[in-house]
Formats: sequence, structure tokens, C-alpha cells
Amino acid sequence: MTVPRGKILDEALKAELIPALKQAQTPHNADIVKHCQYHCNYGHMTEGCQALKDKIEELVQASHIRKFIRSLLPHHGHPNMTLTTLKTKNALDE
Ligand SMILES: [Zn+2]
Repeated sequence: MTVPRGKILDEALKAELIPALKQAQTPHNADIVKHCQYHCNYGHMTEGCQALKDKIEELVQASHIRKFIRSLLPHHGHPNMTLTTLKTKNALDE
């Protein structure tokens, strides 16, 4: 993955794809040099956050599934199809 996880988190939070977590407790023995943007606490880096990694993977999977489902759907509003449908309807009415 070339995009830093912190950047993905920023975008995902803005797009409300990931609900912002309530500030998590910083453990007593936490390494305060390491800060996680997702958990808003210390002890590990955003880049090393397992929960965030899982969340991002979930999003990626979900968007793949959405794209897959969309590709299975017939195209809506195709002009020729609408015309044909209308012609058929008129022909039946007459
Ligand atoms: Zn974290």
C-alpha cells in the first residue's frame, strides 16, 4: 500500500466511511512517542494500528463488492432500450 494509513483514515473520516472512535484510554505504560490518529491515544502508531488496518481492509472489500454488484446490474436509461420499450408499448395500445 503506497498511501499512508493516516491519510486514508483522514479521507475515510471525512467521507464518513469510518465512524470516528471515542478517545481510547492511553495505557499507563504506553509509549507516548507513538500516537494513533484512529484511537486518539498513545502506545502505537497510526501506521501500525491493527484495528485501523482491519477497518480499511473491510472498506476495500465492501467497495469491491459494490463494484462487483454494479457490474452485474443491467444498464439503466439506455436510450435505445427506452425507445424500443415505448414503441412496443404504443404498438400494443393501437
Ligand atoms: Zn490505533
